[in-house]
Amino acid sequence: MTASRQPTVRVLLVEDEESFIDALSVGLAREGFDVTTARDGAEGSASFANGQFDIVLLDLMLPKMSGLDLCREIRQTSDVPIIIVSAKGEEVDMVLLLEIGADDYVTKPYRLRELVARMRAVLRRREHAGDLDEEESTIQRGPVRLEVDARRCFVGTEEIKLRKKEFALLRLLMENPGRVLTREVLIDRVWGHDYVGDTKTLDVHIKRLRGLIEDEPKKPQYITTVRGVGYRFEVSRAD
Ligand code: CA
Repeated sequence: MTASRQPTVRVLLVEDEESFIDALSVGLAREGFDVTTARDGAEGSASFANGQFDIVLLDLMLPKMSGLDLCREIRQTSDVPIIIVSAKGEEVDMVLLLEIGADDYVTKPYRLRELVARMRAVLRRREHAGDLDEEESTIQRGPVRLEVDARRCFVGTEEIKLRKKEFALLRLLMENPGRVLTREVLIDRVWGHDYVGDTKTLDVHIKRLRGLIEDEPKKPQYITTVRGVGYRFEVSRAD
């Protein structure tokens, strides 16, 4: 697969480890990305302010300014997609990352293909973000289809009966394909921020949804668990 016919995506890579910079610059350029490198947080901040970027890859442990602080700073002025690239063994609070506005995260070591897939998923989501405002009446991901107005769900040609909260939960996940939604966000959006019930309720609903839409509910392909963080509707399987 070549990316040569797609418009050039401008990437800001903020990373201080030379081995990663070299591998990523070469690998991403080969995939058709236009990569600008910054080697510490302050340089990243300056580069971002002076350039036009479609996506930011942000290491967490950086000299001069942490990736966390840079992420916060960028979010004050921009909704550019940000993917956090964290080192193996680094204690990372994934929930915090998502709360301060990171779109996704990848843990080193990763395969280039995985990173590129995540980048494309985030970019695609941004491209379609405007569409979602217009209340899509049908959402199709792989074999799963939601008819929002009629509140009906189909897997292939078979209609699946969903309860109100199950439908709301599945809709939220399918509207954000490839994106980790934290438990807090899911509970907040589906049950309301004043929900005081057992948080196990969420898991019970996920389990039931998996039972209805997954081929093998115990090895889910569509609704996957991101341990300690939340759930994600997978794009690679469902596009
Ligand atoms: Ca680092």
